[in-house]
Amino acid sequence: MATILILFALTFFSVLIESWSRHTAYRSQLGQSRIAAENVAQAADEHVEGAMNTVAWLLDGIVERVETDGLDGEDRRRLRDYMKTRLGRKDSALQGMYVHGPRGQLLISTDPHPTWHVSNADRAYFDYHRTHRDGEVRIGPPIVSRTSGEWIITLSRRWNDKAGNFGGIVLATIPVDYFERYYRRFSVGPRGAMLLAMTDGTVVVGHHSGRDDVGQSVASSPLFQFMRRSGPRGTVMLKTDFDGVERLMSYRRVEGYPLVVTVALAKEEILADWWTVTRQEFAAIVVMLGTLYALGGWLLVHIRGKQRLEIRLRNAQAELEAKNATLDRLARTDALTGLANRRCLDECLAAETARATRDGGRVAVIMIDVDHFKRYNDTYGHAAGDDCLRAVAAAIGTVVHRPADLAARFGGEEFAILLPGTDVDGALRVAEAARAAVGTLALPHTGNGAGIVTISAGVAAIRPREADAARSLVEAADGALYQAKEAGRNRVAAARTQTQTQTQTQTQTQT
Ligand code: GH3
Ligand code: MG
Ligand code: MG
Repeated sequence: MATILILFALTFFSVLIESWSRHTAYRSQLGQSRIAAENVAQAADEHVEGAMNTVAWLLDGIVERVETDGLDGEDRRRLRDYMKTRLGRKDSALQGMYVHGPRGQLLISTDPHPTWHVSNADRAYFDYHRTHRDGEVRIGPPIVSRTSGEWIITLSRRWNDKAGNFGGIVLATIPVDYFERYYRRFSVGPRGAMLLAMTDGTVVVGHHSGRDDVGQSVASSPLFQFMRRSGPRGTVMLKTDFDGVERLMSYRRVEGYPLVVTVALAKEEILADWWTVTRQEFAAIVVMLGTLYALGGWLLVHIRGKQRLEIRLRNAQAELEAKNATLDRLARTDALTGLANRRCLDECLAAETARATRDGGRVAVIMIDVDHFKRYNDTYGHAAGDDCLRAVAAAIGTVVHRPADLAARFGGEEFAILLPGTDVDGALRVAEAARAAVGTLALPHTGNGAGIVTISAGVAAIRPREADAARSLVEAADGALYQAKEAGRNRVAAARTQTQTQTQTQTQTQT
């Protein structure tokens, strides 16, 4: 039970600790990715802003020159050369720069083969500047260039003639590819993306695998919805509606321009390493706990087996001890009468005389014989004789009281009582009590003088001084018994010991 509890506790705590640790790692991984996404968004923001600022300043400068110097002859050629030198710079974002007249006609172009006949009067930016007097640089949505066929964005400014009326526009184009090339430098993962869009949701650059969204509107996407509710910059975990992939998205509005840059990292890719480590660690825990459970199970089975074996052994031992006790009791008990048997008597007698020899104490023995028992058998039958012997034995048994006293069947119809620490007078009293007890039974015995079953008893007591004392004590008692028989039966006689061996007999008769 304790083993099972320990295993459960171990499982619970290892899973708890591991889950906590993985959760912390999960949060830290997302936190780091958030910072990375924000950094890339900032870099993209600064890149766009830098490019836009440079072109805007350039447009301002050109408008200034057109308005002050005019576009006549030499001035126009000088301006075109200046524009070409700006375009030729290595870091230039520009694809082309143009000056248009009031009807959209091309006046200056940096293209090697200008298409003079093409008018831009129909473009939205042209119309805007014609009708608006502000000197703002206007950024247009991505369009396909009429001269190069590429996706471009336009930056334009109005210029006024000497009279202050609409003179035309100065136009600069930046290929979308310029931003795309920059975004390719960042590794945002196979399912990550970088986006440059107009704040109205028109895509300028959509740098991610296999999609060409330039010119499309993503105004209704979850990110743009989020953007409209939030500030100029933010980071959020969102599910993209076109592919259902969850992405961590960081966006920044480009200051001063209607543009926004976005960096999106696929959550699945951000957490790829985290998943690998988590799977490995949980596998390790499963293996560890599995081993522990197997060991615990084995231990449990082993302990249970051992316990069962021990119980069986203990039971067998108890059974054996009980059987031994029974055997021991049987070996020391007379089967017919239930009194101690001859063997038990001999052992006790030897032990008590040995003890008395050491201690200087006394030992007394009473020998008892049923009177004319042969005749009883003859008269009543052997079975009745057995019953009679049982009754006599029981009566004799009632007169011994001290723990060390012992009543035994000596053999046939003869009994003996061992009385340690008793003198001859004490033994005589016990013998007399036995005789009286048998008499009280009043078992009819027509062959006996008294008409009932009687016993004769011989008593001897000694203070033993040698090992052989037991035998002489029994012999003395037996001698006294003989005297009792001789004196007429149904009586008690005592061997009066002078020394251990010389006995003088005195009989008591009760009639
Ligand atoms: P006495 O008064 O002189 O002792 O006469 P007695 O007949 O008792 O003399 P004896 O000792 O010769 O006879 C003993 C008889 O007791 C002999 C035997 O038949 C009988 N006896 C001995 N053991 C048993 C027993 O276990 N059961 C029965 N029923 N009789 C027994
Ligand atoms: Mg006899
Ligand atoms: Mg007899």
